[in-house]
Amino acid sequence: MLSLICLVAAPLEIQLSRETLHQGEICYLSVQTSEQGLLSLEYRGEPYPLIPWDDGFVSLIGTSYKTSPGRKSIRITFSQGWNTEILDTAIRVVPSEFRKSVITLPRSKQGTIDTTRQRRKAEEYEAVVEAINAPSGEYYSIFPEIFPCPKKISGTYGDERWIGGHKAWHHAGLDFAVPSGTPILAPCPGKVVMARDTFIRQGTFVILDHGAGLKTLYYHMIERNVEEGEVVQTGDTLGFVGSTGLATGPHLHMGIYINGIAVDPLFWLERKEPF
Ligand SMILES: [Zn+2]
Repeated sequence: MLSLICLVAAPLEIQLSRETLHQGEICYLSVQTSEQGLLSLEYRGEPYPLIPWDDGFVSLIGTSYKTSPGRKSIRITFSQGWNTEILDTAIRVVPSEFRKSVITLPRSKQGTIDTTRQRRKAEEYEAVVEAINAPSGEYYSIFPEIFPCPKKISGTYGDERWIGGHKAWHHAGLDFAVPSGTPILAPCPGKVVMARDTFIRQGTFVILDHGAGLKTLYYHMIERNVEEGEVVQTGDTLGFVGSTGLATGPHLHMGIYINGIAVDPLFWLERKEPF
């Protein structure tokens, strides 16, 4: 009998940095175990990576402007030999209010929405989506240390973008209105998984994989400073602010994806302490 009691004793301690999230916000989840075993995490039925951190493990969980409000399940499974323990928890997603902004493209940029270039744009979009959704490689960091450039925000996450009287898309990132040529710095270590020039929409851009499902991207550069395959450290210059691609003027568009979900970059950048 005693041994049975020992087998069902919970060796797990779970902590969420927040339980209620607005659409686009993120939270950190930590798991502490006093015993050796196999741990796995599922968020909304999808496997999520857990990385060693502070005598336990941590994971980054994100929501987007597309995430429907309500309860989202999180399941932690701990296996030790024949015994498996399941712990269920959840986050609650509440609606965000997104700004509506109207975009007027200068005549020189109107080709970017011209139907003759739609096919190339679609192919480029597919390549970017593939890079964003590809499984993460080696783990570097999920904790931001610095902003990529001075915090002069001109476009916030989730903004509804209207062009010519139509709702074109939700703004899946954060815009920094900084002068052309401003260096764009890596907010934390990572690997350059995509670095391309002259894409119709993205312009000259870089995508970093930080590991653990976290990718960050930087669009509209006037010039790149890194190549695919390079590992960068916090503060390394990725490139310089410009207005290449679909941009009405010089700015940095930064995007952040957690396991393919576009989250609010500002929310991530401003919270340096996870708990
Ligand atoms: Zn943008």
